[in-house]
Amino acid sequence: MIIVMKPNAKRESIEHILKLIKDNGLDTHISQGKEVTIIGVVGDKSKLMTQNLEIAEDVDKIVPVTESYKLANRKFHPEPSVVKVGNTSIGGNEFVIMSGPCAIESREQLLETAFAIKKAGATILRGGAYKPRTSPYSFQGLEEEGLKYMKEAREATGLAVVCEVTSLAAIETAVKYVDMLQIGARNMQNFYLLKEAGKTGLPVLLKRGLAATIDDWLNASEYIISEGNPNVVLCERGIRTFETATRNTLDISAVPVIKEKSHLPIIVDPSHATGVRSYVAPLSKCAVAAGADGLMIETHPNPAIALSDGPQSLTFSQFEQLCTELHPFVELMGKKF
Ligand code: PEP
Ligand code: MN
Repeated sequence: MIIVMKPNAKRESIEHILKLIKDNGLDTHISQGKEVTIIGVVGDKSKLMTQNLEIAEDVDKIVPVTESYKLANRKFHPEPSVVKVGNTSIGGNEFVIMSGPCAIESREQLLETAFAIKKAGATILRGGAYKPRTSPYSFQGLEEEGLKYMKEAREATGLAVVCEVTSLAAIETAVKYVDMLQIGARNMQNFYLLKEAGKTGLPVLLKRGLAATIDDWLNASEYIISEGNPNVVLCERGIRTFETATRNTLDISAVPVIKEKSHLPIIVDPSHATGVRSYVAPLSKCAVAAGADGLMIETHPNPAIALSDGPQSLTFSQFEQLCTELHPFVELMGKKF
């Protein structure tokens, strides 16, 4: 539940409520708006005597929160969250484009890509060093060697860098090299991994699971936030449906639904959603129009020889063209990049 204080409630009244809740063994989460303070209660609220709260000084109303996710809930935090990643921020006025290869294949490939995407307007470099491949015989990633190239690319370009982590060992290594950790679709409900990623304090990019409902997804984000790490960005990357023309089905409605239910920023990944290069541009425009905070787009110097996801990767000139075409859409939505 949340306790909405009256506009300009006195500090002592707020302190009184916080103490009452804590004395009942529950945690609080404060959201401070311009005039109104909202106190979120986390834990088993049956322990709390709500009657005492309703008549307490400066309390406006008590609103039950029926959803099981609390800290990710918009009711707990009405203002949209802005997550800082390196020199860029996701969730504010900036429309953020992250791009790069599916897998880091070599130093040259990564550096070349980093410079190309930066020139086109991207601010975050993505690249996989630990690849969760469907087949164990497919390329599994360069691991720490790849992360070293990521760090070098960051130093050379000023781009922020993000890499997927698939185990605790990968998290422990990645924190030395990257600005943001990615939890991929296949690990969205690996609760142990979510908690460990939360404990690092680094921003976490949480992709939607292949068959996860929006509720499942927000509960997954709650695992990260409840470790004291509010820096979560959601990424819609398509879900499994009966349709086979695309690799997954992009659930574009997830964008406004998330915006209504949560304060967390959301970006869209049309590359993994479709698996088809020619569908990436139209769906990118769609994502901007739906209100997304950014995009993740796979690019490669030569997609024909990419070690993974070549068919969905854009060439640099295709990526540059797309960024140019996106400008008026982004402007129309009152954002910039
Ligand atoms: C990726 O972003 O490289 C990736 C593997 O995507 P997903 O987890 O969405 O399949
Ligand atoms: Mn990929």
